[in-house]
Amino acid sequence: MQNITILGSTGSIGMSTLDVLARHPERYSVYALTAHSRVEQLAEQCLQFKPKLAVVGSAAAAQQLSKLLRAKGLHTEVAYGEAALCEVAGADACDVVMAAIVGAAGLAPSLAAARAGKKILLANKEALVMSGQLFIDAVSKSGAVLLPIDSEHNAIFQCLPHGYQRQPAAVGVEKILLTASGGPFLHRAVETLGAVTPAEAIAHPNWVMGRKISVDSATMMNKGLEVIEAHWLFGASASQIEVVIHPQSVIHSMVSYIDGSVLAQLGNPDMRTPIANALAYPERIASGVGPLDLTVIGQLQFTRPDLLRFPCLKLAYDALLAGGSAATILNAANEVAVQAFLDEKIGFRMIDQLIARTMDKLPLCAVTDIDALLEQDQLARETVQSLIS
Ligand code: NAD
Ligand code: MG
Repeated sequence: MQNITILGSTGSIGMSTLDVLARHPERYSVYALTAHSRVEQLAEQCLQFKPKLAVVGSAAAAQQLSKLLRAKGLHTEVAYGEAALCEVAGADACDVVMAAIVGAAGLAPSLAAARAGKKILLANKEALVMSGQLFIDAVSKSGAVLLPIDSEHNAIFQCLPHGYQRQPAAVGVEKILLTASGGPFLHRAVETLGAVTPAEAIAHPNWVMGRKISVDSATMMNKGLEVIEAHWLFGASASQIEVVIHPQSVIHSMVSYIDGSVLAQLGNPDMRTPIANALAYPERIASGVGPLDLTVIGQLQFTRPDLLRFPCLKLAYDALLAGGSAATILNAANEVAVQAFLDEKIGFRMIDQLIARTMDKLPLCAVTDIDALLEQDQLARETVQSLIS
């Protein structure tokens, strides 16, 4: 029996994780669930999964949750705030941590899980993008096991040899081929992109996801973050990671070897597949995802991304090549710009412009510890805010 903490259980990934866990009560029990503000949803989850602990974002939310839990006759302990998130991620009684908080807010608890040597199922790509080497070092120092949940990275993980050690050349890997759907604006006239609404941007053709990652998919910053994520997870350089547009989202990514072989992982676009894969690894368990019927899909298409349409993808490659604090700045600037777009304070095309201007403005520096990292993150956020106002 494995005890699991789900950071961000009320989100899209969190709910898919609980769906998979509910299919295997003999293998998994829930140690802790966390949510930022959706208290009622969290209370329902507590009723179904009976965690020992539940963590929310504020004292008021904690009070409200305690009341709801008492009314249901539950004894789940309630806590709030970042320290509590770190505690449930690193607790001795927890074996596995699903890191599914969105954005930089997930860094501290994900790092706590890494430092405590947990099996970490990483959905929260922003945490890895912003902290890079520091995160990888924490994992290797503690002996934690880092398994990718992002569908592309989970696919790549499945296409690499067992026991792969972040050295592509050592196992004959030539390239990682990261597939991208192209999002909702793949074919939309570029000159009309300035006027798209948040509702249009979050209407992804293939995946149902949280709002932030949906906007990232529309700008293709999501793929840019994934290029950086692939760099840290698999030790591949920028030139060894190639993005291929594949609108059907059936091939979740590929690995190309020096002998000419290309291995791919395919499946219906449903995050329960990578979640079940990482949960049970190296075994396989049912995920609830139906079998793939290629005869229904009929055709798979592939094209190269157009960087004029998707400048965020280029900005992310630039940040990876620049190194140091660049990816931290890119990620922070993107988070603030995306939120401003969702709040209808800026237009869609301002997202890439604000990120580019912030990256131009801030000098690069080495990021040698978490405090320096958080300082860069904060500086980038303030810079974007001042550019917006
Ligand atoms: P979501 O918005 O649906 O859920 C986010 C979760 O994080 C919620 O439970 C929310 O309560 C919690 N949260 C938000 N802000 C918080 C804060 N400040 N402090 C603590 N908790 C907070 O997002 P999602 O789509 O589930 O994505 C989660 C992560 O997984 C993201 O990093 C995303 O990039 C990644 N991811 C998601 C998908 C997907 O299909 N949804 C696929 C690949 C990767
Ligand atoms: Mg992905």
